Amino acid sequence: MELNRLTIIECHDGLKKGDFTSVELTQACLDRIKKRNKKINAFISVFEKEALEEAKKADEMIATDRQQELTGIPFAVKDAINTIDRRSTGGGKILDNYISPYEATVITKIREQGAVLIGKNNCDAFGHGASNEQSMYGPVRNPHDEKHVSGGSSGGSAVSVADHQCIFSIGEDTGGSIRQPASFCGVVGLRPSYGRNSRYGIMPMASSLDTVGPLTKTVEDCAIVQKIIEGRDKKDATTVETQDIASSKKKLRVGVPKEYFNVEGMDEEVKKIIEGKIQKLGKNKKIEIMPVSLPMTKYAIPVYYLVVPSEDSSNMGRLDGVRYGVQAKHKTLYDLYAKSRAEGFPEEVKRRIMIGTYALSAGYYDAYYKKAQKVRTLIRQDFERVFSDPDGSASGGVGVDLLVTPTSPFPAFKVGEKKDDILAMYLADVLVAPAAVAGLPAISVPAGKTKKGLPVGLQIIGNRLEEEKIFQLADFI
Ligand code: GLN
Repeated sequence: MELNRLTIIECHDGLKKGDFTSVELTQACLDRIKKRNKKINAFISVFEKEALEEAKKADEMIATDRQQELTGIPFAVKDAINTIDRRSTGGGKILDNYISPYEATVITKIREQGAVLIGKNNCDAFGHGASNEQSMYGPVRNPHDEKHVSGGSSGGSAVSVADHQCIFSIGEDTGGSIRQPASFCGVVGLRPSYGRNSRYGIMPMASSLDTVGPLTKTVEDCAIVQKIIEGRDKKDATTVETQDIASSKKKLRVGVPKEYFNVEGMDEEVKKIIEGKIQKLGKNKKIEIMPVSLPMTKYAIPVYYLVVPSEDSSNMGRLDGVRYGVQAKHKTLYDLYAKSRAEGFPEEVKRRIMIGTYALSAGYYDAYYKKAQKVRTLIRQDFERVFSDPDGSASGGVGVDLLVTPTSPFPAFKVGEKKDDILAMYLADVLVAPAAVAGLPAISVPAGKTKKGLPVGLQIIGNRLEEEKIFQLADFI
């Protein structure tokens, strides 16, 4: 058995029993990266020496009975998440030489357990993209068919797990960046409720939507990592203390929103696979399937692509070429300002800054940003209605516990296929953007494969802070 192919639970047990050491496990992952990274490109940085040192320390912890759930387990982190004293480029050349002096809270929580940080995952620059083709370090290839994209923006994170280059990884999801690549690569990926996991140390994209979460090989593994990283953090005022909300009812009521099956570009094979899965779920005595309607779904993409660039244009302001990263290279002040941003951002980042600046400018603010925020409220109310009790005060309450949908209308597309078609690329987020806009938790779990062997993901959306119910249903699948 190749050690790098194990799950978190299997690694934990094997380490505990002394079947293998963390050094051996880490070496197996490093060997796999060495063999695959040139082609697949899931890592921007690999910390070979440091990882082996951390593994040695983990072995000492295990030997002295200090093993925790993640002790000695090699993991990877999206490069748009800061890791102390380690290169963190975010996928953009403007931070090519940036060594972060601090670390994201969620990463510290994992490392405090003695997990081994093996490297930083390739991603669309600062989270902007749905295919990983907006990384300035080259696209990530899908291990199921290397001519196809990994999805994005956490493409490297999904691929490193799917291709067994690490045991789990941590990604970031503003509008689908964990779920969509998880779906394209056949792994599990959770976007938590907004505020459940601390965003401290995540390079910010759109602050009212950004979340950070795990990508894993199994649902059980996903729940383990999520438990470890969640909770209130005084460095992120939006975080909340959480309680588990499992379903107390005998039956989980699961809604199927019809709008998610009729979107533009919906692939018939994907639709069939997901419908087949839902039918199967319906046979389970503990699950009740019912059709629901979320009429605001079609507005999620226009709202997302106004709110996100607006917040983005402000957040990207900190990457001015002066404060972090590449400045040493530029000799004159003019070069510093003009060239570092011109050369250091890919096209998509520049486009978002321009759109956002426009949408926020005097005279346009009311027509665009403010209006988008109003429609955002309507989208949230759409979800509130289906989740609320039919006997409660909200009119038209349906009382579902969860919603199931495809994660993406289509499987992974070919590298280059949509790169120059901006709107087509934005539409790739059509099924993942609504939950993000509403701040809701959602997971993508593998549901099957197309005839050509490309994975298809099923998305489960839950009510705010009800991740536990999501895991309950995901486990059935
Ligand atoms: N594809 C989305 C975008 O480009 C997703 C981004 C994200 O979740 N980081 O905005």
